[in-house]
Amino acid sequence: MKSAEGKEEVKGLRVLPSVDLLMKTDPAGEYAREFGRERAADVVRAVVASLRAEVAGGTLDAAGRDSLTGQAEARIRAALESEKQSGLRKVVNATGVIIHTNLGRAPLSDAALEAVRTAAGYCDLEYDLGTGRRGRRGSRAEELAAELTGAEEAIIVNNCAAAAVLVLSSLCDGGEAVISRGELVEIGGDFRVPDVMERSGAKLVEVGTTNRTRIEDYSRAISDETRLLLRVHPSNYRIVGFTSMPTVKELADLAHSSGLLLYEDAGSGALMDLSGLGLTDEPLIPESIAAGADVVTFSGDKLLGSVQSGFIVGKAEVLEKIRRHPLYRALRPSKIIYAALEATLVSFMRGTMFDDVPALKMLALTEEELGKRAAEMAEELRERLGGVEAASVELVDGRSVVGGGSAPDSQPPGKLIAVRHRSEGANLLEERLRNFEPPVIARIEDDSVLIDLRTVDVSELEIVKSAVCEAFR
Ligand SMILES: *Cc1c(COP(=O)(O)O)cnc(C)c1O
Repeated sequence: MKSAEGKEEVKGLRVLPSVDLLMKTDPAGEYAREFGRERAADVVRAVVASLRAEVAGGTLDAAGRDSLTGQAEARIRAALESEKQSGLRKVVNATGVIIHTNLGRAPLSDAALEAVRTAAGYCDLEYDLGTGRRGRRGSRAEELAAELTGAEEAIIVNNCAAAAVLVLSSLCDGGEAVISRGELVEIGGDFRVPDVMERSGAKLVEVGTTNRTRIEDYSRAISDETRLLLRVHPSNYRIVGFTSMPTVKELADLAHSSGLLLYEDAGSGALMDLSGLGLTDEPLIPESIAAGADVVTFSGDKLLGSVQSGFIVGKAEVLEKIRRHPLYRALRPSKIIYAALEATLVSFMRGTMFDDVPALKMLALTEEELGKRAAEMAEELRERLGGVEAASVELVDGRSVVGGGSAPDSQPPGKLIAVRHRSEGANLLEERLRNFEPPVIARIEDDSVLIDLRTVDVSELEIVKSAVCEAFR
């Protein structure tokens, strides 16, 4: 280090603030209080290392220790803010996709939230308060599920995929399950029904063609190795036109006359008829049970509108076998899940689900009401953005999406708000909404950002307005 440059470098490095000194600054102190001293010291060391590298590399001017300390403090503060925000964050869902898997699927009802709070402390999870002895875990939620579906029994596990694995592991025992080719589908980016199901050791025997499968196709495939007939709802995949599938009743009759079981994976499924809301293709769980299905599985956080969970409902004798399977212990949910489900299922029992359960409330929101909310917001946005040349706010006709693999054909219509920046692209606007606090997530169509208020709670309308105005600053 004899060159003039080398001396400069050494000089710059000598004025680098020390870790000890920086640990005494306000941001480092706050870091230590929030996340512990060790984590704070790690961050401070990383900041000093980055300063040293930049000074040595000549990309940062070492104008003295004070300025470098200021730089270091700013970086520690930035790291602190970013770490504070790195957990699960609230977002406003302005996409109009009701069951949005990336945004946490169904939002919980107030009653479910309250129940979760209660169960978070000690609770009678596996304790019978009448006798003072051990009780059955999850019994209340399971009783409600059985009652609502008309099944003899219900079992709750962590999600519907877990339910499918548990059912096939318990009932198929390495034997064969006969399934239509039209039902071997991939749902979402990374979930293939057959891949998950085969993990249970079951051999899936495909019958029929993609668009048509007859009851004879199933009966011809039955062998000594067959344990059950399997029906899987194709969820977000639709075969239209020249199609046919046997009914649940036909499949149940064939299964029973052959000494087999019928298992239906309904995916989302619905507890009651939603055809009035345009959902005509969702399997009705009570209908499948009444038609003779021995076991039906469905999700807790799709059209049921509760927490991530999977329901197994059906005949008592069959479910007893499932509950005794060793995998059940690995797949059973926590008390928090039972609590949220109990409260949600009670809304269904009472018949108040369209008022209480957010996903169903959003689904049932009338075109008129949605139009009114959109028009009010558009008008206020135009007022607030009055002086902003670049801003354009329009009402457009659009459609919301049920999502979560449910009802791909039924997209509830309604007015949406199209926001456009006359000189910048829609991507910039979308990004600014996404970077708002709390983030507002919207979709882009035809170079506009589309805001769909169907999935925005009335308590969040003000956030959306502020985010849009802020995006034009
Ligand atoms: C969504 C879906 C599943 C998976 O449900 P999760 O609760 O997300 O595990 C399984 N089967 C079908 C038919 C589905 O639509």
